[in-house]
Amino acid sequence: MSTKDYLEKDYYAVLGVPKNATAEEIKKAYRRLARKYHPDANAGGDPETTAKFKEISEAYDVLSDPKRRKEYDEARALFGSGLGGFAGGGARGAGFPFDLFGGVGQQGAGDRIGDLFSGLFGRGGRTTTRRARRGQDIESEVTLSFSDAVQGTTVSLRLTSSAACQACSGTGARAGTTPRVCPTCEGTGAASRNLGSFAFSEPCRDCRGRGLIVDDPCRACDGSGRGKSTRTIHARIPAGVADGQRIRLKGKGAPGENGGPAGDLYVQIHVRPHRVFGRSGDNLTITVPITFTEAALGSEIKVPTLGGLPVTLRVPPGTPNGRTFRVRGRGVTRKDGTKGDLLVTVEVAVPQYVDPELRAALEKLHDPKEGADLRADLIKQAQSE
Ligand SMILES: [Zn+2]
Ligand SMILES: [Zn+2]
Repeated sequence: MSTKDYLEKDYYAVLGVPKNATAEEIKKAYRRLARKYHPDANAGGDPETTAKFKEISEAYDVLSDPKRRKEYDEARALFGSGLGGFAGGGARGAGFPFDLFGGVGQQGAGDRIGDLFSGLFGRGGRTTTRRARRGQDIESEVTLSFSDAVQGTTVSLRLTSSAACQACSGTGARAGTTPRVCPTCEGTGAASRNLGSFAFSEPCRDCRGRGLIVDDPCRACDGSGRGKSTRTIHARIPAGVADGQRIRLKGKGAPGENGGPAGDLYVQIHVRPHRVFGRSGDNLTITVPITFTEAALGSEIKVPTLGGLPVTLRVPPGTPNGRTFRVRGRGVTRKDGTKGDLLVTVEVAVPQYVDPELRAALEKLHDPKEGADLRADLIKQAQSE
């Protein structure tokens, strides 16, 4: 039996007896339940029934032994349901438990309980329900430069999640005060109600099941004990993410409670456009100007790549305006580590300014009949319809 069991299990509820039940009542309740759930009476070996029987036996083991019962009652009165009331995200670290502990200690609860729980608090992070609980998922967003999105990067994200109120360390009581144990339920947070021969356990009305009463509520959280915590994490953004994509970073969300796993972090990706490069799936795109003579006669041109040295592209003679060439492996890194291509579209540039020397050369080239011939077919086809 661990101290954790003492906090987590309500043996009275298991046996369906009130907290002040006599030894005789406990024995009677146990016998009645044991008959019902005993493995011998449960021929099919139903695992749920078997587990129930184990639970009943465990409860009876503790409650039928006066010394252990006293220990159990004390443990729960002081800490059991009390901790249950502390809200959200957790009294992490030593601050809160020791504050409360000091307060209780002065009331003479003694060091024995301290020993009992020292192991428990050492682990930190005891919170709302005492069951292990997965941490919250957190949403965040980040704006990346074009090349960071293509090549992958590490970003710092400021994350806000719910946590114990900092002002009161999650107790809900004004700083410097401590909540007191609820006298009605003696800190168990549960009240028993008798209905004929049955006893039901329900949340205590005076403390709303919390086990503790706050006389002077913390102003920062209005006594709820809940607050927000902000932390900065470094997240690795994989290569190849695109604008509008939402990526999941497993285990980077809010920490789990009571040994539960951490939640996930979802990051909405925004990507700033690049001045030169565009994207089409795994391929990068670029438009490169070439001269009329480079297109007509053919040439070798230098084309920039993202994050690398320029590559040489061979433009064959007679290349039309707007033709796209493929440079393999200079695109976006895919999930499997391979890379997309760089798609280079050439655009024949028409000179904006023509100096006398160029004008003379061009006029020598110019043949009015050539232009008319070029369009003759088009004009004929347009008229034939
Ligand atoms: Zn507070
Ligand atoms: Zn109460």
